[in-house]
Amino acid sequence: MDAIGTLKMLSGQMELEHAEEAHGGSAKPACFTPKEEDAAFVHPAQLPNGKQIMLLKTLLTSACERDCYYCPFRAGRDFRRATFQPQEFAELFMKLNQAKAAEGMFLSSGVTAGGANTQNKILDTAEILRKRLGFRGYIHLKVMPGAEKGQVERAMQLADRVSINLEAPNTERLVKLAPHKVFMEELLRPLRWVEEIRRSQPAYKFWNGRYPSTVTQFVAGGADESDLELLTTTDWLMKNLRLKRAYFSAFKPIPDTPMENKPAVDPMREHRLYQASFLLRDYGFDLEEMPFTQDGNLPIPTDPKLAWAQSNLLGRPVEVNRAEKRDLLRVPGIGLRGAEAILSARRTGKLRDLTSLRKLGIIVARAAPFLLLDGRHPASQLAMF
Ligand code: SF4
Repeated sequence: MDAIGTLKMLSGQMELEHAEEAHGGSAKPACFTPKEEDAAFVHPAQLPNGKQIMLLKTLLTSACERDCYYCPFRAGRDFRRATFQPQEFAELFMKLNQAKAAEGMFLSSGVTAGGANTQNKILDTAEILRKRLGFRGYIHLKVMPGAEKGQVERAMQLADRVSINLEAPNTERLVKLAPHKVFMEELLRPLRWVEEIRRSQPAYKFWNGRYPSTVTQFVAGGADESDLELLTTTDWLMKNLRLKRAYFSAFKPIPDTPMENKPAVDPMREHRLYQASFLLRDYGFDLEEMPFTQDGNLPIPTDPKLAWAQSNLLGRPVEVNRAEKRDLLRVPGIGLRGAEAILSARRTGKLRDLTSLRKLGIIVARAAPFLLLDGRHPASQLAMF
């Protein structure tokens, strides 16, 4: 098999791994001419700074000595595996980069001969790209279970983003997914190391003079955990270890794994978890305010911000002309930019109608039931929209 064939094979198996914000086809940069043969390994993605690039998402190897119950790469599963050596993959990536087919890279791997050994291969690849081949673009590196602190630090010096997948929200749940991963020592501890390293070293020591961001991923619903458990851990990580975001991958059964007969999780659950995690991270909500049902899950039919507003704002609507930013952000239909736009517009006069709000980017049909405009409920104006 040639190198592109190997790349297609390895990348095609990355479907379950979320990395950066995925974007639709229209987000492709103008310089990129999509070719059918590239489709298996590059994806339009939005970087943390908002820039849109074509991201190559792949594994160094699909061989793995571990046996996580949900994973297509688990040891002993019968499928054709492929492997790149660091130099081989780095050179291939640079060719794709020079051809403008891939602008950034997310590199993960199955575990072979131990987590530290696998981590070295990932690090060697990134080091060849940065130091020998002069690649200055976006790199996201996975930290392997079993990696050492010095390796985490090296990854931070080479990458724009590092990720460590927790897979489950706590030790008890992880046992149901991955019997040989150790939650505290192998997964949570490297996330703590990242924050320790950030606190103990100046930013200029890191790639481009900035600390890399950190993300994690959970297999949502794989261990019968509740949304409350997932969001408790996510909230703690965001507040204590400056986790940039959590990815939630709704569990899907993979044939020929011990979980092949477990039903798939509704993808809408994944969506609700994202919405709730953004409310916690960006909108000033506390975990206790999330509209969990008695079983600790978010309601699937209603988005969590709307559910909260229906319980809390119908009887005490928010006055657009006086409310503080944190209160505006709690209104469905008002996002981060919308709240800023309202504050800015208020400096030049009162907002009295929904048309003015719509011009500021507010989704008025969602917001109107929870607002007052100069003391008046705008519901009667809704018919115009
Ligand atoms: S260690 Fe990673 S690649 Fe290997 S079986 Fe577990 S989840 Fe899959």
